[in-house]
Amino acid sequence: MRISNLPACQSVPESKPFGRGGPLVSRIGQGTWPVPDPAALRRGIELGLTHIDTAEMYGAGRSEEAVAEAIRGIARESLFIVSKVLPQNAHAKGVALACERSLRRLKLEYLDCYLLHWRGTVPLSETMGALERLVDDGKIRSLGVSNLDPWDLREAAGSLHGHRLACDQVLYNLDERTPEDHELPWARDYGCAIVAYTPLGQPVLDPRDKKFAVLAEIARAHDVTPHAVALSFLTRDPLVFAIPKAARLEHVEANAAALRVELSADEIAAINAEHPNRERTGPLPTN
Ligand code: NAP
Repeated sequence: MRISNLPACQSVPESKPFGRGGPLVSRIGQGTWPVPDPAALRRGIELGLTHIDTAEMYGAGRSEEAVAEAIRGIARESLFIVSKVLPQNAHAKGVALACERSLRRLKLEYLDCYLLHWRGTVPLSETMGALERLVDDGKIRSLGVSNLDPWDLREAAGSLHGHRLACDQVLYNLDERTPEDHELPWARDYGCAIVAYTPLGQPVLDPRDKKFAVLAEIARAHDVTPHAVALSFLTRDPLVFAIPKAARLEHVEANAAALRVELSADEIAAINAEHPNRERTGPLPTN
């Protein structure tokens, strides 16, 4: 494939609505597991990676504390902070208590989105009811889920009364594209966002590997790293966001560069050919 040396396109939106009618959120964010260095997170925020994903589970609250340090002094409205409740805390009273603990560690008045981390034994309707009350109480601006297949998404959405699911956060990368045929079509019909976790793959994509030759060629044409191309590819759909985690500053900067990469139709076709989707045989894969 021949790829011309295109300059980074300025027309690509760095932020997009977080689900239909949702707030504008940076399409590339930052993960926080393992516990992040606040300085790296802050550098990412300065570069536009203002969408931060954390959870009470990460480091038993230490990731949330690191986020608090990273965002100190930054205008609250410029950030989109997401946290998650563990399934064992996802009962009617537990959700509110877990949210209070997260807010305290984050030193915040409210979360932009609060997710059920994965489905456990508590009925989804009970968790969704508790999340709705948190929205009504002003503790969270929106609610969502993680690691839910379409049938669970239907059940969760069907049990909501006054609010809507803002997102499903799922494992999605170049080796695991099956959400494109399952959760993404559901999200498109319903109007919520899909957030890609582990977007750089497991193991992290190695640009020296021959199977990334096309990615590397496209990266050279845009003067970014192959990782940035992968992030741009994953977030090409208006509903998809990605939350890479980077401890190293050069990785943070490389990921932020993806905000400005717009892939051409030929480049997308070439990545599709090199990294085809596969058929999913079981449930939604998780980490
Ligand atoms: P990831 O972000 O795809 O990969 C992290 C790895 O990629 C680290 O080793 C990092 O290295 C490396 N990396 C980052 N940017 C890079 C770049 N530009 N070039 C080369 N290497 C780069 O995977 P993840 O950490 O599993 O997932 C990201 C976030 O998703 C987590 O932090 C967490 O917030 C969330 N998550 C959610 C769930 C869930 O169940 N909802 C599950 C897993 C993860 P360095 O650290 O050395 O920079």
